Amino acid sequence: MSREQHVPEGASVSFEPAPFPRAAAEALADPQLRANLRKATRTIRSKRAEVVAERADWEQLREAGERIKRAATRHLDVHLEELERSVERAGGTVHWARDGAEAIEVVAGVARAHGSDEVIKVKSLATDEIDLNEGLEGRGIAAVETDLAELIVQLDGDDPSHILVPAIHRNRAEIREIFRRELGLERLGDEPAELAEAARLHLRRKFLSVPVAVSGANFAVAETGAVCVVESEGNGRMCTTLPRALVTVVGIEKVLPRFRDLEVMLQLLPRSSTGERMNPYTSLWTGVTPGDGPEEFHLVLLDAGRTDTLADPVGRDALHCIRCSACLNVCPVYERTGGHAYRSVYPGPIGAILTPQLERLESGDTLPWASSLCGACYEVCPVKIDIPSLLVHLRGRVVRERPGKRPVDPERLAMRVLARTFASRRRYEAAQRAGRAGQWPFARRGRIERLPGPLAAWTRARDMRAIPKQSFRQWWRERGPAGELVADSATNSPGAGGGRA
Ligand code: SF4
Repeated sequence: MSREQHVPEGASVSFEPAPFPRAAAEALADPQLRANLRKATRTIRSKRAEVVAERADWEQLREAGERIKRAATRHLDVHLEELERSVERAGGTVHWARDGAEAIEVVAGVARAHGSDEVIKVKSLATDEIDLNEGLEGRGIAAVETDLAELIVQLDGDDPSHILVPAIHRNRAEIREIFRRELGLERLGDEPAELAEAARLHLRRKFLSVPVAVSGANFAVAETGAVCVVESEGNGRMCTTLPRALVTVVGIEKVLPRFRDLEVMLQLLPRSSTGERMNPYTSLWTGVTPGDGPEEFHLVLLDAGRTDTLADPVGRDALHCIRCSACLNVCPVYERTGGHAYRSVYPGPIGAILTPQLERLESGDTLPWASSLCGACYEVCPVKIDIPSLLVHLRGRVVRERPGKRPVDPERLAMRVLARTFASRRRYEAAQRAGRAGQWPFARRGRIERLPGPLAAWTRARDMRAIPKQSFRQWWRERGPAGELVADSATNSPGAGGGRA
């Protein structure tokens, strides 16, 4: 998503189309990026595997997580109204935002009410999704990111490329250069402690002077009105306790029915995301408490395409996501292309199923195909979202519904012809004979390395096996009774190394 893109007043959030293949090709040509990604994702993967292996009941925990999220989304309307009542009972104010523009206006209104032209921010995907920073900037209010990685990305005028580690595509030397350039720290070294200290000094002034903070939330509990943020650096704790007013923007799917549901989620999330048994900072707050923390609390419940997503009985499972990023770290496509190629704040496998739905399939042409369907994402997902099945489902939806569909879609036409061919033995065998006769200019030593015309796209990255001289059916018919077949099958069957299929 372009950082230049501003959310129009009163309009729902829209994203740039996501030409994944082109952006991925550009990313693949950058060896430094690939090296950074490979190192970072491998490290997080192995940390996660170690802490997950400690739990003999991991599978039961995943099942419990799935059940909780399924129950929460099934009666989302009921839980959201209960959440509103609970927050207001505790002294908070609830705002309902149909889209990004409405949410931005709430935040801007709170900043204006406090006479501030700055807000400090806790890392939040929901606010990135609606381009809150750019929307506030258009209203004369600066949003200061306080998460270290978000700060790096913001100072560099860059976009985050990972849900959990927004600057995963940067190494230490690159970060030092950004700090040297943007913070005027000429003599800064690239030791992690030095870099962190530079950020700490820069941010401390903001924590102590800016009166309004903005956060997202990992969970919001309907039963009590409690809002929960988990983080690793403590900057979130500063934002949620020091300013006079706190605005929390949360997607409506983040609601949990009961406080005890946190027991499951707070075990699943840190192990799946940072590979830790517990997050260093888990902040929970409920409304306002006189003399303790912010005097004002605003909860913005953001729709921005979630209600439309709920209407799809299969696709809605994407709303169960708890943004742990485990699926990114195991995805062979993400590991090679990085997050920017997805052109969305939600990269990787979760982005491939969530972004097209939030955008009403506008970028669906490419994202549901940004996967090898290997299934690794499903195996690590702590709430058991069947991402591969959702990808296949969305591919089907895109083919049926995508906007701007051509009157004669060559792919649909080809699939229809194939369906008719495979439906009849006679047609199938005729097609085999025709293919065998027509392949001679291209087949070499049992392989086809280059096909002509539009079919060349298929062989550009892979070889095809040539159609064998004899098909299985012909072989079967020639072999006669089953007894002969068994006696001879070890050496002569089509699958026994003869290259026949
Ligand atoms: S889809 Fe699952 S694995 Fe991926 S970020 Fe969401 S919860 Fe984590």
